[in-house]
Amino acid sequence: MADEKKQYTFRCTVCGYEVTVDTPELPEDFVCPVCGVGPDMFELVED
Ligand SMILES: [Zn+2]
Repeated sequence: MADEKKQYTFRCTVCGYEVTVDTPELPEDFVCPVCGVGPDMFELVED
């Protein structure tokens, strides 16, 4: 049984910034540190 935490990478569709978190969604108040957009502008990066 794999016991490691799954990680999810999201990419900002505006500037390309990538962030890795351990939840399948970004927090509602997440803000891109580069261009300032919210989580709606991020897409999940598939492996
Ligand atoms: Zn951005």
